[in-house]
Amino acid sequence: MATRSTKRGSEKTDLTGNYDVLVCGASFAGLAAASMLRGTGARTLVIDRYEIGERQTSACAIPTAWLENLGLLDSECQRFETVLVHTPHGRIEMPVPWEFSTFDYRALCDLLWGKCDSVFETAKVEGPAMTEADGSVSVETDRGRITADLVVDSLGWRRVLDPSSSYQPPEGPLSRGLEVHPAGSSPNLEVWIDRDYVPAGYGWSFPAGDELRVGVGSFDPRYHVRQPTERLADDLGLGTDGWQGNWIPHRLRDATSGPIFFAGDSAGHCLPLTAEGIRPALYFGLALGTELRAVLEGRQTRERALTAYHRFNEAHRPHFEGMLAAQRALPRIHPRVLKTLLSAFGNRRFSTWAFGRYLDIAPPEFAKVLVDAGRPALDPAPA
Ligand SMILES: Cc1cc2nc3c(=O)[nH]c(=O)nc-3n(C[C@H](O)[C@H](O)[C@H](O)COP(=O)(O)OP(=O)(O)OC[C@H]3O[C@@H](n4cnc5c(N)ncnc54)[C@H](O)[C@@H]3O)c2cc1C
Repeated sequence: MATRSTKRGSEKTDLTGNYDVLVCGASFAGLAAASMLRGTGARTLVIDRYEIGERQTSACAIPTAWLENLGLLDSECQRFETVLVHTPHGRIEMPVPWEFSTFDYRALCDLLWGKCDSVFETAKVEGPAMTEADGSVSVETDRGRITADLVVDSLGWRRVLDPSSSYQPPEGPLSRGLEVHPAGSSPNLEVWIDRDYVPAGYGWSFPAGDELRVGVGSFDPRYHVRQPTERLADDLGLGTDGWQGNWIPHRLRDATSGPIFFAGDSAGHCLPLTAEGIRPALYFGLALGTELRAVLEGRQTRERALTAYHRFNEAHRPHFEGMLAAQRALPRIHPRVLKTLLSAFGNRRFSTWAFGRYLDIAPPEFAKVLVDAGRPALDPAPA
């Protein structure tokens, strides 16, 4: 269990004050947004209840090109060219036309933070955001009230700054995800689509160097995944060290509410069916960062930024809804039929087409485009 290094006692100084930008949440989405503000001269404060990289929030698997294009390859643990899918009727080795990597959470967060020139403080956000008479936004934290013109909620699925549209599990469109991190190694990225483990969802084993990240996700929030996770680990001959889990949003939400911007899980930026949320969190975080940057550089107003970012989010809704439809269909497909359908991925042409379309929802070239546009925050990886 990670030790909590949130500031305590006399370290917990009062942060009450005014900033140009306040980014709440220092994980994938928040750090990506903050990185785009580098060099603007804006007074940007990033806050999180934990130190940067202190609490891993996922199994940390991502298309390798995203690490490459953001200059984050130094955090990579292991790389994969195929996904091994287990079903009750046999296993299928799916060739993926692009590679997947697992990475070290702290290392990646440190690298992203190295691309920011903001101030960071540990502080817990305690309540909804309030709009002040002058149009600025204030946020109550355990270290005082912080006010800013531009406020980002990248705090995860709770969407803390906007309780008017908050979800309460298990009623909301949330999946459950839980995993263990036992020591071990394997060359294979593996997935189990097997109702013996979970009626609607899947199990996984993501190797990351000298540890395995083994877990079970359920699309049905009422189905508990602790026992299935223990069983999967046991079936693989592994222990159950290092529990980590959370609710995973599986429906796209509004990316703005009043004057507040949302990115990552707080906006439902996690792809249904696969529960891949890191790539979209980075993607939408970067997109939001470009809009905020334009405000700080006097090229647009906050209102224009809210509209542009809202539209960008909505343009992705058909993809997210399509993935949600597939997520709903999966548990209804007879396992034998599913095996046949998945076998189509053994065909390289089909697999290239299908995985290509999936990657295009949040393409790695997006990060490259921002680099090529000369954004100082995102240094390209060395050739
Ligand atoms: C078990 C599991 C495995 C997963 N594996 C993968 C995977 O391999 N690949 C993938 O792409 N996706 C995976 N996901 C999904 C992925 O973790 C999320 O979609 C992703 O982390 C979202 O990033 P984010 O920046 O929006 O939020 P988060 O990474 O959840 O970060 C939110 C941040 O806000 C902080 N915070 C929260 N509340 C407060 C508060 N009140 N005050 C101050 N700070 C606060 C937290 O400390 C945290 O740093 C997994 C999810 C789970 C549960």
